Amino acid sequence: MNKQIKELIVISGKGGTGKTTLVSSLAALAEDFVLADCDVDAPDLHLILDPENYQSEPFYTQVAVKDEEKCSGCGQCLDHCRFGAIDKDYSIDPLACEGCGVCEFVCPEGAIRMEEEVSGHSYLSKTRYGSMAHAELGPGGEASGQLVTRVKENARDLSAEENKELILVDGSPGIGCPVIASLSNADLALIVTEPTQSGIHDLERIAGVAQHFGVRPLVCINKSDLSELNAEEIENFASRKGIQMVGRIPYDREIVEAMVNGKSIVEYTRGETVDAIKGVWEKVRANLWNVED
Ligand code: SF4
Ligand code: SF4
Repeated sequence: MNKQIKELIVISGKGGTGKTTLVSSLAALAEDFVLADCDVDAPDLHLILDPENYQSEPFYTQVAVKDEEKCSGCGQCLDHCRFGAIDKDYSIDPLACEGCGVCEFVCPEGAIRMEEEVSGHSYLSKTRYGSMAHAELGPGGEASGQLVTRVKENARDLSAEENKELILVDGSPGIGCPVIASLSNADLALIVTEPTQSGIHDLERIAGVAQHFGVRPLVCINKSDLSELNAEEIENFASRKGIQMVGRIPYDREIVEAMVNGKSIVEYTRGETVDAIKGVWEKVRANLWNVED
């Protein structure tokens, strides 16, 4: 009988907060899971996990292309594009185009058509912790929200095939399209933040996004000893918003040493930081399997 699969996404308001470090450590601690690296713009989980790809597929996205000869300059496409991909002269910026097809639909002259282009690749791999779904955008590749969705679909298929009980997702940073795609269908969002004023600001925004999309957030503070004042401000914010704190992880130079050696900190050493991460995992695990369905 297939187990009920839970999905934990680890996110942060911006890159560089230690999100991937934490995901690799959780991978060393958790059992019975598959991994999904949804940070498709800058995937770096593979630096620690050294995956062996066994499947690679091109990822196609739609992009709008205009036939100048047919365009009458009516402006309908500009009025209807929600992604700012059409300029005032009604030319289409392929890098900004999200491929929604609205301009093709509204164009009265039939001047716009949708074309497919390869914008990246999705992969299935084996790591020392188990299977992983991940992807990479090609140079200038856009529509990373769609690629994130592909990674998540692949991870769900893998977890069903292998009868795993958990999908551990390294989410996209920030609050844009990719992170919203990462959050879809997640059971819990573990937010990693740092005790700085910008970290607090980013936390407020990303917690709001998670709650808006119906995913319950938990918060842990990385490099927690950088500022006791700011760490307390984060805890006060969480308390006001009814968000559970699941731990403080102190700054530790060995985290970088571990990464350089291709290991998570949990595999590399012992001590206060590793104990803190183990504490975070215990709390997250308790929350995951108490999530109301
Ligand atoms: S396909 Fe959508 S995003 Fe792309 S230019 Fe047309 S309306 Fe804008
Ligand atoms: S909607 Fe069609 S005809 Fe009108 S400006 Fe855009 S491309 Fe040209």
